[in-house]
Amino acid sequence: MGNIITAELIEKFRKANYKLILLDYDGTLVDFFPFPEKAKPSEKLLDILNKLITKPKTNVVIITGRAHKDIDNFLGHLPINIIAEHGGMLKINRIWKKHTIDNNLWKDKVLPIFNQITLACPNSFIEEKQFSLAWHYRNAESGYAYSRKLIGLLENFISTTTLKILDGNKVVEILSNDLGKGKAVENLLKQNKYDFILSIGDDKTDEEMFEFLLDNPTAVTIKVGKGNTLAKFKLDNVDNVNTLLKQLLK
Ligand SMILES: [Mg+2]
Repeated sequence: MGNIITAELIEKFRKANYKLILLDYDGTLVDFFPFPEKAKPSEKLLDILNKLITKPKTNVVIITGRAHKDIDNFLGHLPINIIAEHGGMLKINRIWKKHTIDNNLWKDKVLPIFNQITLACPNSFIEEKQFSLAWHYRNAESGYAYSRKLIGLLENFISTTTLKILDGNKVVEILSNDLGKGKAVENLLKQNKYDFILSIGDDKTDEEMFEFLLDNPTAVTIKVGKGNTLAKFKLDNVDNVNTLLKQLLK
């Protein structure tokens, strides 16, 4: 993302009346850590977010796959809106609400598949969230090979269900088709009219958000890191994201 584009973006942000800023957390605002609970926000980042929230007519939303308690631990002390669990849990004006889907019966059927792979693959682990099951393999040596196996088994299972698989960065997750960052953003845009949207993310789950915003002329979408993307722009790393957000504060 060149300087000219950044300057244009800042100009658009300043001129807009009602702004929406959608920020993924891991790999976007903070770097990845071997253990996800270590990925605490730095003082610098907290300061930037705190100032961004106080900008007039600016809705700053953290949009993450993390469990809501997890992300609340990191950012809950800020008056920031949060979409957690890929849209399953929403915190608006400091109050958490659940998505209306409430069928988790599939979990009992999927758990044995997850257990089988976890037992075979040392240093991998299962995370159960309110609306999903996630299998993490960041610290597992043959994690990638096992993740393909797991996806194969899950694809077989979901063919007769309304579930979907998210093949993320060192994590495989299964959840309802009704969830996802694209759907979550769609719901947000039904509630308010924005004339400027900034959406930043690094992972495959963020692509759903970029895809939904693809034809939206008010949206600036940014992918962090390498790889194919539907986002309009790219930034190399977390530091670049922090710098860009800081520039919006001026
Ligand atoms: Mg991410």
